[in-house]
Amino acid sequence: MRTYLDCNATTPVDRRVLEEMLPRLKETWGNPSSRDHAFGWDAAEAVELARGHVAGLINANADEVVFTGSATESINSALRGLSVRPGATWTVTAATEHEAVLESCRLAARQRGLRSCVLPVDTSGRVSPDSVAEACSSGETAVVSLALANNEIGTIHPVPLFAAAAHAAGAVLFSDITQALGKIRIDVHESAIDLAAFSAHKVYGPQGVGALFVRGGQPEITLEPLIVGGGHERGLRAGTLNVAGIVGFGEACRIAKFEMAEESQRVGRLRDRLETAVLAHLPDVWVNGDQAHRLSNTSSLGFGGIDARALIRDMHDVAVSTRSACSSGDARPSHVLKAIGLSDDDAYACIRFSLGRFTTEEEVDYAIDKVVASVRKLRRFTSASA
Ligand code: PLP
Repeated sequence: MRTYLDCNATTPVDRRVLEEMLPRLKETWGNPSSRDHAFGWDAAEAVELARGHVAGLINANADEVVFTGSATESINSALRGLSVRPGATWTVTAATEHEAVLESCRLAARQRGLRSCVLPVDTSGRVSPDSVAEACSSGETAVVSLALANNEIGTIHPVPLFAAAAHAAGAVLFSDITQALGKIRIDVHESAIDLAAFSAHKVYGPQGVGALFVRGGQPEITLEPLIVGGGHERGLRAGTLNVAGIVGFGEACRIAKFEMAEESQRVGRLRDRLETAVLAHLPDVWVNGDQAHRLSNTSSLGFGGIDARALIRDMHDVAVSTRSACSSGDARPSHVLKAIGLSDDDAYACIRFSLGRFTTEEEVDYAIDKVVASVRKLRRFTSASA
């Protein structure tokens, strides 16, 4: 039974989202920048409606949302495009951040001379707010970049505390909220987030659409666009908008806002069912991430003595992953698992199960049977060949 438990890589498109998108591809194809006719007006109206829904999910104002092509692009736009106040020479981030954040900080160092302070995390993947305050204490930090939730282990960060530490030092707070979107309540204003990146395909919308939240009314938050030539999106991201994708993103966010609370609980029960059964049936298994502050859909499990790639191959019709999709071709151990203190061998022994809206109890039970049988088999081989 083909079973998809890799929703942190991408989620299936919700049928309700697809229904909203299809007419935009088949019947009403106007360019929202065409101001001279009804095709354009209609497309612009659809984009603005979607912008309102996207903003609504994070409690932003519609004019604080800029559409992009992905969360990766939004991250690059924020971290590489932010105009830095005089005297600011540092970016502060954490060792467990997504590669898009870490690489943008490295590029900002090479191209703009902004040195990068990469904070360590504890064994559950948390950065302490005190360490953020300390890193900012010289008053030379331009931006603090810390994700709301980690994509590999699901650990949730106390972002409002980071924002307070950043602001006390005159720095801007950027948060990658890609994995938290639609899974936990987000209020960018209450959390005092200045900039945030996220995308549609983690919340049952289409791939290829992202958004950047830019807090309004803050003259110190000025962005130089990465992509120029047309003045779209208030001059922050040039290029004709992906109307169907944006409409899908809007619908995905509208649905998530209403269904998130119940869905997270249901998915959390399935995740717990998976973990309880696997831990009960197999010795030498551990759970990565912060048990008290963790996304309810994410389970990063380590299987002592197992090569996770061999395990994934053996469970062939259960789709799980060893790490984030963007890094899955990388042969090195996951930088997230290394950062929480795992040895190379233990990092290579971990699998991420990420459940979602359409995951069923039957699929979870199937995955439990598969993983238990495969681990037992691989351990038998290993002890026989030792
Ligand atoms: N940030 C996090 C935490 C992610 O999990 C991902 C994707 O896995 C990204 C950023 C990149 O998102 P996108 O695929 O929209 O570029």
